[in-house]
Amino acid sequence: MLQAKAFLTDLNTVQRMYIDGKWVTSDSNGTRNVINPANGEIIGVVTEGTREDSQKAILAARRAFDKDGWLDSKARDRAALLNKVADALEARVEEFASLDTLNNGKPLRESRYDVADAVNQFRYFAGLCTKPHGTTYDVPDDMQAMVVREPIGVVGQIIPWNYPLVMATQKIAPAIAAGCTVVIKPAEQTPLSLIRLFEIIDEVGFPPGVINLVLGAGETVGAELSESPLVDKVAFTGGTDTGIRIMKAAAETIKKVGLELGGKSPNIVFADADFETAVDFALYAIFANQGEVCSAGSRLLLEESIYERFVAELTARAQQIVVGDGTDEGTEMGPLITEEHMNRVLYYIEEGKKEGATLLCGGNRLLDNDRDKGFFVAPTIFTDTKPDMKIIQEEIFGPVLAIQTFSTEEEAIELANGTRFGLAGAVFTTDVAKAHRVIKKLRAGITWINTYHPTYNEAPWGGYKQSGIGRELGTYGFDEYLEIKQINVNLNVAPSGWFEKRK
Ligand code: NAD
Repeated sequence: MLQAKAFLTDLNTVQRMYIDGKWVTSDSNGTRNVINPANGEIIGVVTEGTREDSQKAILAARRAFDKDGWLDSKARDRAALLNKVADALEARVEEFASLDTLNNGKPLRESRYDVADAVNQFRYFAGLCTKPHGTTYDVPDDMQAMVVREPIGVVGQIIPWNYPLVMATQKIAPAIAAGCTVVIKPAEQTPLSLIRLFEIIDEVGFPPGVINLVLGAGETVGAELSESPLVDKVAFTGGTDTGIRIMKAAAETIKKVGLELGGKSPNIVFADADFETAVDFALYAIFANQGEVCSAGSRLLLEESIYERFVAELTARAQQIVVGDGTDEGTEMGPLITEEHMNRVLYYIEEGKKEGATLLCGGNRLLDNDRDKGFFVAPTIFTDTKPDMKIIQEEIFGPVLAIQTFSTEEEAIELANGTRFGLAGAVFTTDVAKAHRVIKKLRAGITWINTYHPTYNEAPWGGYKQSGIGRELGTYGFDEYLEIKQINVNLNVAPSGWFEKRK
């Protein structure tokens, strides 16, 4: 803990936004305290931005794109800048991991993984931006017909608190690689690592206005990014209800939208699955990152014939998970992000009980061993659920697993698809044909066979149904920051004669 705290900024220093290449405080003179969810302590003070600050940042991004030459920037130069960010970040893994753990609560082993992932994102998109991406067409006329891809322009990016650094980098890196300019807003609760990343962005020498950081509330600072006619695309990760608001606001200016939203993902285990592996991943699917993962396997679908044995092992192991301060190296699961969010998770647990589900373990706030100062909830498992219960239908975004049972493949598929979400899903079985049959029927964008959670920056990330629109990461994510332009070049310059030339 002490070592991690050494990376914090002095509390007498108000941490600032980064607009048009300068560090600025908001004219509002407001500030916001940043809290460590493991103990409720204030760990930072940041300037509280306003709609006007967003507008200033958007204008800077607009000017950088339209007038100052970023549109004409060379892919090789953009790649070099992105690689410099990667190198600088890689040299400071422990610092960035500590900031995310102190600010979000997640265990250090997860934060370290996140920083490594962020480094890789900068490198991946640095590589991608110099690769050719156009096409030519063989057309009937004497014409060179081609398609080129160009940056969309000014992009507003709004992110949640569950992966403070990685959510930012997986938006910034592809946008810059594509040649866009960026205004990004972190979640109110978790600005610290992104502010620190902007120190690196400042050092490596991006031109003023190319990447801007605004801080503050979603309803003002964030809303401006989805409403402004000067923003060409809004890329949002967060809750489905916020996504609906953003899409409505963006509709007024026909802005492009990218939405990465919530989930209630099914993890389907057949009786013939490798037992130890399936139990292990069922735990990892829901309790990694305290269950604050959009793609969490929050519904476990078990084939009836293995139900008793599986649940006994799963419950025993869930109760062994070490829950504590993420900065303690032995911690396996941290606190929830805020008191408000913890109460929301506890509300769903109460609703589960009221609706008649059986609580197998957990279900309570942890208040012993100093944990009463933080927002800790025990790993929780419900069984005897029905498909229409809130704990089956709604995203809880915490360490709460709901078990459903099935006896046939068809029933498993119907239950798996039985929510408004379609982000992720997994199937555990040793029958390869069955695995593929089930995955083929699963209405979800991110799927696994005999594993849960691993995904790669090379592959597209995004959801079906109400889990989102568009994809991030990989070449698909890169394309989302590019417009498509067709160019037809006449190779035989002569009048068409369509309208007769009369005297
Ligand atoms: P949230 O929707 O409450 O907030 C996300 C961001 O949106 C914050 O920065 C917030 O300030 C901003 N915001 C809020 N209202 C806004 C408005 N009207 N206009 C513009 N911006 C606004 O979500 P959260 O509680 O921070 O995060 C949890 C949610 O994020 C979960 O539902 C989770 O599933 C989702 N999530 C999805 C993915 C994915 O890739 N699909 C990844 C991580 C998290």
